[in-house]
Amino acid sequence: MSKKYWNEKIETMPRAELEAYQLEALKEYLVFAYNNSPYYHKSFDEHGVSPDDLKELSDLQKFPFINKKIERDRQIAAPFLGDLACVPESDVVYISASSGSTGVPTISPFTLKDFDEWQDVEARLYWMVGMRPKDRYLHALNFTLFVGGPDVIGAQNLGALCIWAGTVPSEKLLFIMKEFQPTITWTTPSYAWHLGESAKTQGIDPAKDLSIRKIIVAGETGGSISATRKEIEKLWNAELFDFYGISDIYGACAGMCEYKDGLHLAEDHILVEVLNPNTLLPVKDGEQGEIVFTTLKKRARPMIRFRSGDIGFVNREKCKCGRTHTRIYITGRIDDMFIVSGVNVFPSDIEYVVRTIEELSGEYRIIIDEEEHLTKFDIEVEKEDNILLTQELALSDKLSKKIKERLGVKPRHIKILQKGDIPRATHKAKRIIDQRKKSE
Ligand SMILES: [Zn+2]
Repeated sequence: MSKKYWNEKIETMPRAELEAYQLEALKEYLVFAYNNSPYYHKSFDEHGVSPDDLKELSDLQKFPFINKKIERDRQIAAPFLGDLACVPESDVVYISASSGSTGVPTISPFTLKDFDEWQDVEARLYWMVGMRPKDRYLHALNFTLFVGGPDVIGAQNLGALCIWAGTVPSEKLLFIMKEFQPTITWTTPSYAWHLGESAKTQGIDPAKDLSIRKIIVAGETGGSISATRKEIEKLWNAELFDFYGISDIYGACAGMCEYKDGLHLAEDHILVEVLNPNTLLPVKDGEQGEIVFTTLKKRARPMIRFRSGDIGFVNREKCKCGRTHTRIYITGRIDDMFIVSGVNVFPSDIEYVVRTIEELSGEYRIIIDEEEHLTKFDIEVEKEDNILLTQELALSDKLSKKIKERLGVKPRHIKILQKGDIPRATHKAKRIIDQRKKSE
């Protein structure tokens, strides 16, 4: 088993051939959606478009968008699967569910074929980070409804020995790591950090005493922020790889190769557009915009022009690894972005700065509020134990200056706390506290 790619033909297909493949798949898929989903049928008719209007990939722009709200509304309007679905319930073998801010869980249904194809994509991504049948893989993601749970099956299909840990308390997970000596694990960046630190407090040095040499992370932007990645890699003496998933489609649908320059999207299954969030027109490759996905094969519920709410950019050039599939770079959520003095501020940029300053622990919180109707933000950080009270002012100035350099605006206040004062996350870190009054 010395092959470099999981599926060489697909992963290294020349760009023109790949796009022709996508076009054929999309033509058939739009017909399928139009004929089988009451929602898409009505929506295409109302927008005056028909699957026949798709002559080239860019014609997809003529078709209407969907988003989380439509997905949820249609599910409520036509229970159980919603009328975006294209198959009867008897063909569905698995659903995941994600709870939104309104508390109504949106489900993602899979047919058996969808499920198998999804797990084949997972195997491809695992293979890309270097997982091989000789590896022991510790799956530390939530199994309860969460779409990341079943991703362990892709690792089994690849031939790795899999340990289904799920989300257990840190002590238990460290026990499993010591006992079974897994070589690869998958968690969130915050948790990889937290777990490494809590191991140390128990007298375990993750870099020396544990056998984890590759960590897959997803769910937060940290894995693609080089300063964060390097800190976690040092803590564990392991390589960190970022994955990206979207619960409405797949567990993970994109991942880093050994060059760690963007995340290869499984483009034989999912088409990506990057649009200006205001005009909804495509931006140039390399420019930031809202990421919009279209599935090409998932039969249970096609997602056609799904506005993800994620901000990022793409690179469609062939990668040094030989893969031709587009690399995506996620830089934040539209919801997390806030505007200060006309500047778009992404928390991921603040994280980048905080984690390049070695006098700080790397933990941080952003507090957003209003002062005379203007948005302001404060930052809380933790100093390392060896920093004296007399050094704090200089440290605060340094942070403020670096943030201004990177973002173009600076925080109103910086609060330097003792190491350990900011609560550690066990799953996704809550780093943004928005105290602005919500206008109706
Ligand atoms: Zn690559």
